[in-house]
This record gives sequence, structure tokens and C-alpha cells, in this order.
Amino acid sequence: MSTDDEKPTTFHMTPDDFRSQGREVIEWIARYMETVDEYPVLSRVAPGDIRSRLPDHAPEHGEEFSAMLRDVDDILMPGITHWQSPGFFAYFPSNNSGPSILGELLSAGLGVQGMLWSTSPACTELETHVLDWLVEMLGLPERFRSQGDGGGVLQDTASNSTLCALLAARERAMDFSSGRTGVAGDLTVYASDQAHSSIDKAVRIAGLGSDRLRKIAVDATYALRPDALAEALKRDREAGYRPCLVMATVGTTSSNAIDPIAPIAEICRREGVWLHVDAAMSGTAALCPEFRWIQRGVEGADSYTFNPHKWMFTNFDCNAFWVADRSVLIRTLSVLPEYLRNAASESGAVLDYRDWHVQLGRRFRALKLWFVIRHYGVEGLRHHVREHIRLAQEFAQWVQASDGFELAAPAPLNLVCLRHVDGDSRTQTILDQINAEGESYLTHTRLDGRLTLRVSIGQRATQRIHVERLWQRLSALGGIDPNSSHPVPGGDGERG
Ligand code: PLP
Repeated sequence: MSTDDEKPTTFHMTPDDFRSQGREVIEWIARYMETVDEYPVLSRVAPGDIRSRLPDHAPEHGEEFSAMLRDVDDILMPGITHWQSPGFFAYFPSNNSGPSILGELLSAGLGVQGMLWSTSPACTELETHVLDWLVEMLGLPERFRSQGDGGGVLQDTASNSTLCALLAARERAMDFSSGRTGVAGDLTVYASDQAHSSIDKAVRIAGLGSDRLRKIAVDATYALRPDALAEALKRDREAGYRPCLVMATVGTTSSNAIDPIAPIAEICRREGVWLHVDAAMSGTAALCPEFRWIQRGVEGADSYTFNPHKWMFTNFDCNAFWVADRSVLIRTLSVLPEYLRNAASESGAVLDYRDWHVQLGRRFRALKLWFVIRHYGVEGLRHHVREHIRLAQEFAQWVQASDGFELAAPAPLNLVCLRHVDGDSRTQTILDQINAEGESYLTHTRLDGRLTLRVSIGQRATQRIHVERLWQRLSALGGIDPNSSHPVPGGDGERG
């Protein structure tokens, strides 16, 4: 035993210091929430600027916490692109919220590693429970609930969920887990030519070969054409391939196109092919019954994924993934070394989420999601989703009514794609200027080869005034009368 004179050396932060410095951090975050609209949305640093301000070597001696927080302000903040700014209209929302941040903090405080039910039963059971809640909240099929053969799991990203869906579909076709060997070289995968690049990556990782991914043609709304899918499947069967998985997208990245799940599911059922649905951002819209048309036919899906970390006020990372038959997924990903054996797992009465994804370890993500759902309630979440969609629809009407811009694609939900009628060069100049000014941040895509601006509305703090301001600047740069087809910012909100 050590005496008072021989106190053990410790470098740890004491609980008292944690308390006072933790208060400072919470205060810092609260102030950031209040002032985030004062920063230029897109960071203006040049490559290497941030590193050039960091010391070459790690400190030999521990430093004061206040110095770290000061460096966050002085060194890091100039290199932050403000995803939480109300003027962030780029890519897709990646919004957060107070309850989510606090849930994240609590999860870090508990420091749970929930690879097995027994390594923290609450981590597993809360996750299973919240994912069952979400099935009901989103109007997803009962077969995804854990009470039956299905179930949900939280992953880091939609990319990994899509990979897991493909690995499970490959397992169903190849039966690798029972010791069979062989190459999956005759397996083929199908998605629209607008599908997210994560399917390309998954096909590569799964070892199928990039040329086994069939990019299916889309219709005028950029949605997958079921007739083209049926034709591709037929062609491949005749050529001796084995169709393995079809991915339908609810809300494509470029233009928010909604693939028609019902006819796609019917084709998959007929062909015995795994149907995976990627609803990364747009799945959140299904919280509102009036937008559930986007997933009509989802009862026929084998797996489904969406990202609460995009549009559901849950900070990155938090992806939800469901399967209709969990036994295939578990068979695909379960490897059991001696050191993980335990009585609970062997009883068969528990879920061990380590068997539901690629990695072993996992953090307590369900906590922040639980906090978000309990804080907002379904009513609150619906309210904000409806508001974002309403703003996007209004913005789309301004575009349509203007004589300088045109809609580049239908805007079913919260993403509006537009371009200047003078063509790519003018559109590019407008994009560059908007982003240089710093009040808003937009990104682009190409649709039918033409440069297209994407206005993605879904950040927590975005209100009508921010959308109006963006339209004012677009109008001015596009050479159209800013008051002819849209409201004046700060006015009564009526369209002229
Ligand atoms: N699928 C779609 C339709 C997306 O828009 C995105 C994000 O851009 C992804 C998948 C990838 O999401 P994650 O970053 O969670 O892998």
C-alpha cells in the first residue's frame, strides 16, 4: 500500500477538472450553435494551412486544457466548413441537435464497447428497441422488426450497410459459411446509373468484379426503369450469370430521384434476387405519412438502410440497417473465437451485434438516437422535416417562375436541382461566386451531362430567411429581377 508520502503518479484529469472544463466545452458548443451563421460556410484555408500551424512534435509534457480550447478557436476554426450553418445547402444535410450531442457525450462517458450482448446488455437492447420503434415511426414492414425473423442494427454509414447487404446476398447465393469454396465470378448486381457510388465500392470489396455491376437506365425523372432491369436480368440469365442483388434508391444523391420499389420488388421476387433499398437521406421523409409513397413496395425488400445522421438531427455517425431475415446476415458475418464465447450468447436468447457488421467492436450509438427521438417526439421530427420540404418546394416554385433559371429535375422532397438557362459556363460562375461570398454553400452535379446546382435543405437552423437570401443572390447573379417571382427577404413572405 502506498503511504501519503508515496502517492501514485497520475496524469489523469481529475473528476473535478473534468467538471469545470466540461462546462466550458458545453458553453463553447452552445455559443457555436448561436453564432454558426456568422462564419463563412465553406472554409477558406489552403491545403496545408492548418498543419503549418501545428507543432512538429507531440508535447512531451501535458498541457492546460484552456490552451487546447484556445487552439481550437485559433487554429482549427478557420479550417472548419460549417455543416451546421443555416446557409449550408451543399451535398446533403448532416444535421445534429442538442439531445444528439448530449447523447454522444454520455456514450463517450460510459465508454461502452458493445460487441456482445454481455459486454453491455443495455447497449444491445436499447439499440434493438429503438430500431423496432423506427420501423413503426417510418411505416416500414413488420418483417424488419426483431420480434420476428428480421431486425435492425446501427452501423457507421450507409456504405457499410450496403456492403453488408451485398455480402449477405452473396452468402445466400454461394453458401461460403458452410465451407463451400468457389469464385463469385458469375454473380451480378443491379442498380440504376444514378445510384450512389457505395454500391460500386461494395461490389469491388465483395470481390465480384466491377464489371459485374449493371448500371440500369433511368426514366425522365432519373428513376430506375423496371423494364430495363427486367431486360438486363433476362440477358444475364441467358448468358449464364447468376443475378445476386438489386439495389433500389429512395432519393438518389444527384437529384433525389425515387426508384419505384413496388415493380422492382416484384421482379426480384420472381427472379429470387435480394432487394436492398438505399434511402440514405430521403428515408427520413417517411416519418410523415404523406411522404410514405416514396417507399411503396418496401414490403418486398430483403434489406433497407437510411441515415439518421443525415436529416434526422442525429450527429454523424448513425446509420440504420434492417434485414427481413437476420439469420442470413449473421451466417455471413459470424466468426466465433474461443475468447468471445459466453453463456448468454450460447443460450440463443440474445443478439450479438458483432455478427451484424464487418468490424467486431462497436460503440453505444443508440443512446443519441434514443435521446433525439425522446426529445423531439415523432411530432417534433415530423414538424421539422415538413418544414424543410415546404421550404424546398417553395424554392422550386421560385425557380420555376423565374426566367433565368430552370429546374433540372423534379424536386419531390428537400433537394432542388437547377441551372441557369444560359448554360454551364454561367451556372459555374454563379456557383463559384455564391461559394466565395460565404453566406451560403452549394455543390453541383451533372444531369444529362449538364452542370446542375443542388440546393439541399435540411440543416437544423435553416429557416425561410436563409433560403430567401440564397434566392436573392442567385437572382442577382443570374441577371433576373429579384422581386419579380419571389419574396423580398425580411418582407411579409408573400410571393410578388
Ligand atoms: N446512398 C446515398 C443515396 C447517398 O446520398 C449517400 C451519401 O451521399 C450514401 C449512400 C453514402 O452515405 P454514407 O456516407 O452514410 O456511407
